[in-house]
Amino acid sequence: MKLTFYGAASEIGRSCIMLESNDARVLLDCGVKIGRADEYPMIEDADLAGIDAIIISHAHLDHSAYLPHVFSTGYNNPVYSTKPTMELINILVTDYLRISEPENVEKTGLQDMQKHFRLVEFHQEFNVKDLTIKLVPAGHILGSAMIEVSDGKQKLIYTGDMNMRGTRLLEPAYTQLLHADTLLMESTYGGDTDMFPSEKVIINQMIGSIKETASSGGKIIIPSFGVGRAQEMLLLLDDYMKSGQIPPMPIYADGMINKAMRIHRHNVIYCREELQKRILLNDDDPFKSKNFIQVGTVAERKKVMTEKEPSIIVTTSGMLTGGPVLKYMERLGADPNNKVIIVGYQAEGTRGRELVNGSRKIRVGPKLVDVNLKVEQYHLSAHSDRQQLVSLVGKVEGLGKVILIHGDKAKSNELAEAIRKDHETSVPALKDEITVG
Ligand SMILES: [Zn+2]
Ligand SMILES: [Zn+2]
Repeated sequence: MKLTFYGAASEIGRSCIMLESNDARVLLDCGVKIGRADEYPMIEDADLAGIDAIIISHAHLDHSAYLPHVFSTGYNNPVYSTKPTMELINILVTDYLRISEPENVEKTGLQDMQKHFRLVEFHQEFNVKDLTIKLVPAGHILGSAMIEVSDGKQKLIYTGDMNMRGTRLLEPAYTQLLHADTLLMESTYGGDTDMFPSEKVIINQMIGSIKETASSGGKIIIPSFGVGRAQEMLLLLDDYMKSGQIPPMPIYADGMINKAMRIHRHNVIYCREELQKRILLNDDDPFKSKNFIQVGTVAERKKVMTEKEPSIIVTTSGMLTGGPVLKYMERLGADPNNKVIIVGYQAEGTRGRELVNGSRKIRVGPKLVDVNLKVEQYHLSAHSDRQQLVSLVGKVEGLGKVILIHGDKAKSNELAEAIRKDHETSVPALKDEITVG
């Protein structure tokens, strides 16, 4: 099998890998690199024509947002994914096209994309020509999958983005019975220093900080990815409020978080078992908690910004590249009593990264907005850390080669050093081709 890396090679973003066997050509993921200026997979439109299938690991835009463009070029074959991934892509990608108006993603393919999904269950094998393919849970966001591909002679596992630690929403990645010749692994947190401290310690610090701001009458803004991080945060805040560890105050959810919340609720079968039991056996549905207030209109948002009481506002986008969070920053950013809590990955060149780096002004449209509120970062990750990535390599039986992608180049190289003593390991550059088997 031959792999060509059209994105996410020595970088994070625009995951798009062509896999070619004797008979078949498939794309593993099809994303856009979101940043100050979006970047697209380096595949020519003409090369999209001969593809037999696209398989999507999960709904995040860096794995899915190029799909409408691919369909706009006349691509007419299936997109395979889990059901929640399809539903989340429909809202995320539609929203992305509406808000960002990307210059190289043709919207004309959006409807075609929606018609060409083929849904597959975890652990259910399907075929694309001479390839046998199977998705297994990746523990990263709702519906996220690792993709196993075999041509009958060689087997490859592509991790997509994966988390080996269970979360409030999801079971950890499925790492039993993994068997492959080649592991194509993400390396977002593969650097030598990427060891996550205990989540409990971080959460306690964050809860303490929220209480402190609330007691001085301030508002807490939590910018968040609409899918995954936002739901994890809402469930966490709800748990702490119900147990009295956070004083009662409104928890506002603004942006596509609310739609994504409904998708989580009706796909609860893809969530962790404990959550399913809470809902089915105890009629305790955290997705419909009375503590959450949806914000949907301009008037509602204005009320949230101007009311005197403290509140928590969970809103998109997670890296402050757009969305309602910018409205909140414009209105609430100058008041030192307020606080921004950053909980997700912040890409280079985004307003989120600028804030974390200490910038005290951010540009919103033509305006330069003063940032006097406090900015704090708490590392809560939906990815595996260095140690877990290394441990995954050890869990794959029969493994020969490891290929590291979806990481800053320095981090991928550091991880490669650690793995190389046991396995042939490479960190491809963009447009590199690697033949396996
Ligand atoms: Zn992701
Ligand atoms: Zn990703």
